[in-house]
Amino acid sequence: MTEQLERFQMVIGGKPVDALSGKTFESQNPYTGEPWAQVPDGGPEDIDAAVAAARAALDGEWGAMTGFARAALLRRLGDLVTQNAERLARLEVNDSGKLYREMIGQLNALGGWYHYYAGLADKIEGRQIPSPNPNYLVYTRREPVGVVGAITPWNSPLLLMTWKLAPALAAGCTVVVKPSEHSPVSSLGFAELFERAGFPAGVVNVVSGLSRETGARLAGHPGVDKVAFTGSTATGRAVAKAAGENINKVTLELGGKSPQVVFPDADLAAAANGIIAGVFAATGQTCMAGSRLIVHADVHDELIRLIAERASRIKLGDPNDADTEMGPVANRPQYEKVLGYLDKAKSEGATVAYGGAAESGLGGLFVQPTVLTGVTAESTVVREEVFGPVLAALTFTEEDEAIKLANDTPYGLAGAVWTKDVHRAHRVAAKIKAGSVWINAYRVVAPSVPFGGFKASGLGRENGLHAVDEYLEEKAIWVELSGGTRDPFTLG
Ligand code: NAD
Repeated sequence: MTEQLERFQMVIGGKPVDALSGKTFESQNPYTGEPWAQVPDGGPEDIDAAVAAARAALDGEWGAMTGFARAALLRRLGDLVTQNAERLARLEVNDSGKLYREMIGQLNALGGWYHYYAGLADKIEGRQIPSPNPNYLVYTRREPVGVVGAITPWNSPLLLMTWKLAPALAAGCTVVVKPSEHSPVSSLGFAELFERAGFPAGVVNVVSGLSRETGARLAGHPGVDKVAFTGSTATGRAVAKAAGENINKVTLELGGKSPQVVFPDADLAAAANGIIAGVFAATGQTCMAGSRLIVHADVHDELIRLIAERASRIKLGDPNDADTEMGPVANRPQYEKVLGYLDKAKSEGATVAYGGAAESGLGGLFVQPTVLTGVTAESTVVREEVFGPVLAALTFTEEDEAIKLANDTPYGLAGAVWTKDVHRAHRVAAKIKAGSVWINAYRVVAPSVPFGGFKASGLGRENGLHAVDEYLEEKAIWVELSGGTRDPFTLG
């Protein structure tokens, strides 16, 4: 069996390497349920080696490069991503069970992130600041924060790695990436591109590891200057604490329980379609899943009917087939977690309008797209992130009540408002406490648009112009102009 597995290596200091311990682990294909790849089981000692390589690159050739030179490398990397989209998409599909039709689209767009941040790498400017004391010229420099630890989850590993990598490289940082133990392969496959793009050795290092200790070592490493994390809120708290111990910068992209608010004047067919996209696409395994439907009582039954009808036609199956619409859940612990939430919802009195169980005839870890009604604001399935294809519907009658329900969550990642009333659309969007709000749309992202969470959904923003700031330090430089001397015992 082991001989048939595709083998991957980590990249540390520009070289393909095995774990220092020589240990490996097998990555499972969630559709076949079989191991399909063998990857290095890197541990804390491999993280140490990668951080040392990243530091050496920062102190060496990379640290001496101009933003113009970094931009050229980022552009080349973006082109290589596009040229290798097909292979990288297949790696993601085999490792995480995501649909090929979604992944090829994502990989074809991914190069755009490197091109966007290439456009910023040579525009990182300081300021000249007026000083109240005319004897001083004051200006600022914006310098790379240093070595970045980037820790990613199992859903969309390459997209979420790119959201960290592209601005970090534009800023002039070096990076150690630690992908999830559940889907490490695509990041290892991607790592082969850095040398081909011409990046100096050690600028980007990728370490895979089975134990959560590997990520913990990176988050708390004394040689790391900033941690960029995407994952669960629970792990994010541990990462923030570890970074805090080192007084390090940290950005966190965490979980969500995002509301889809539907008013009675909405185009219900469009809303049903957007709600399907929000919670059943990617088998609901997206941080921005629109998993709470908040619908006006007058249109509740009709909207649920439309959603259930479309859900009943969702084609579950092989994620590699072009006509498959929903693949399996990405790994067994997650599969069991989703089924546990369905049992809990039923025991708490929810009505299953559609789905509600595992789909056993298909071999892999399939769960039916599920629509639950008859829940309350206190139901577990309304309060907690399921991270699976499960929609829970609440009703309202007044706009204020809808806003209150939308914000009645510890999370604040995303949300949507469905209405044809332009006044109400903007009024309600302004009141939803979330980092992204779509009006009559859902699940749209772009390199140029900031993404991140309010409240327990995160800290800082990825994407957009200001994501580069998350990877920069600002230094103020004071230049004495008079050439004279001053009273040494006064300030300024
Ligand atoms: P997770 O928190 O279990 O793991 C995320 C990563 O952290 C993995 O690489 C893991 O190995 C590593 N890790 C584990 N323990 C660690 C520690 N103590 N210190 C440092 N790193 C550690 O999350 P997951 O199960 O892989 O992903 C699912 C979660 O991610 C969901 O809750 C989802 O909402 C969230 N998510 C958020 C976004 C976003 O942008 N906000 C995007 C995707 C996923």
